[in-house]
Amino acid sequence: MNVSKEQLIRDMEDLFGPERVLKTDLERLTYTYDSSFVSQQKEYLPDVVVCLNSTESVSRLMKYAYEHEVPVTPRGAGSGQTGGSVPLKGGIVLDLSTWKDVEVDDANMQVIVRPGVVHAELNKILAPYNLFFPPDPGSSAMATIGGMVGNNASGLRAVKYGATFQYVLGLEVVLPNGEVIKTGGVKSKALKSVSGIDLTRLYCGSEGTLGVITQIRLKVQPKAPYRGIMLALFDKLEDSAYTVLDVFKVGLIPSGIEILDDGAIRCANTFKPELKIPEVEAALFFEINGSKAAVEAEGAEIKAIVEKRCCSVEWATDPERMTQLWQGRQVIGSASARYMPGKTRVFAGEDVCFPISKVPEALRRIKMLSKEFDIPVVIYGHIGDGNMHTAPIMDPLNPVEVEKTVKIADAIHRLALEMGGTTTGEHGVGFSRAEYMEEEHGKALDVMWAIKKAIDSKGIMNPGKIWQLGRE
Ligand SMILES: Cc1cc2nc3c(=O)[nH]c(=O)nc-3n(C[C@H](O)[C@H](O)[C@H](O)COP(=O)(O)OP(=O)(O)OC[C@H]3O[C@@H](n4cnc5c(N)ncnc54)[C@H](O)[C@@H]3O)c2cc1C
Repeated sequence: MNVSKEQLIRDMEDLFGPERVLKTDLERLTYTYDSSFVSQQKEYLPDVVVCLNSTESVSRLMKYAYEHEVPVTPRGAGSGQTGGSVPLKGGIVLDLSTWKDVEVDDANMQVIVRPGVVHAELNKILAPYNLFFPPDPGSSAMATIGGMVGNNASGLRAVKYGATFQYVLGLEVVLPNGEVIKTGGVKSKALKSVSGIDLTRLYCGSEGTLGVITQIRLKVQPKAPYRGIMLALFDKLEDSAYTVLDVFKVGLIPSGIEILDDGAIRCANTFKPELKIPEVEAALFFEINGSKAAVEAEGAEIKAIVEKRCCSVEWATDPERMTQLWQGRQVIGSASARYMPGKTRVFAGEDVCFPISKVPEALRRIKMLSKEFDIPVVIYGHIGDGNMHTAPIMDPLNPVEVEKTVKIADAIHRLALEMGGTTTGEHGVGFSRAEYMEEEHGKALDVMWAIKKAIDSKGIMNPGKIWQLGRE
């Protein structure tokens, strides 16, 4: 950075007006965190925060940052769990969360949004058109579309509908030197294209390291007219995972398959006592959607398969009961903080993904790690993809527990790699997973770095993410 902090703040106020600039200690403090455990362990204060909502102003900011070699960290809602939007090298945090324009093109089954639109808000806007944007993160009420593209987020319905990248048709991106490009075709409204190298895909999951995403053209889908929810209970944890494989073997793909282990069931019941889920080793939630006839037929078929291994099963198509049942899964993100008085749940090692054939073994081995490190781990998540949320329960004020949590998160990441999985199925790398990238990708990481250097030659875009600081 070849400008002082004081000068940087003055320049930002001159360029964008003081009302768009946050500079006090308190204002900047909130930007040292996202939802990750790793961001709670050390403060990374930005020198200044700038809140922008036009392509022209973002381009001006990037031209300034490029000239003065100031690090820039794009930020949506800060709900990420890997420290992705935390400014490791200070500089500017570019807050895009107030930029919320939406243009629905229902005739072409697409929508054009600015990066600050929140996922749940978008689906509310699409509902009257009977359309929806399917990736469905647990953080739907917080996550921005810019952040979802940045992290290539997915969620509860990824087993049938896939992740964010499958819906991104084109992007407007402000490059690190301030130039503006459109990916996916300058004027295109096409729903598919194989024209040229796929830069849109390159930016999905690039975590703010290749430029600032200022507009997103998304494919949307018609909403299925009918759905049903099944809750199946298992005395043995592994049987739940084998049941998922049984369902796939007959060629059925539910729109959601979620697991709660015994700890997660307990959390759900504590948080919402009216749920009264029996405290067995595991519960599976299946969501099936489609036409009424298809849902009823698939529901019956899946029930027959599930019954072979479970101790009890309930199938519901009544809207009120479905809401009650699905709530059992939806509350876990918050409910897991109530596992034990005096302790909380932190996001560390939290979204590993295993090959689906190895999930039964993975579940048991995570339980063994929990015993070994003496840190309770609540397991829940997207078992249909092998994507498990493993939530350590600990006291963040107790240094011994902090150390043990860091160690068990590391052991869980390494278990995923050892078993042929990945350290992150949906939350991204940020700086909490950067240390595993070499082992996970081998020489491919060098190619990723070559792309990064070609686009961001001065290394100003979100330094320290995906690649550890010092690589430059
Ligand atoms: C309770 C809870 C549940 C969650 N459940 C899920 C889940 O089911 N599935 C899932 O995938 N994630 C989940 N998450 C994680 C998180 O919500 C997602 O990763 C989400 O996509 C982040 O969006 P955000 O707006 O908060 O982005 P941020 O956290 O602000 O940013 C995320 C990354 O994107 C980059 N970025 C943000 N905006 C831009 C932009 N305009 N241009 C370029 N880069 C940008 C940032 O630099 C950063 O690297 C959950 C989080 C919480 C707290």
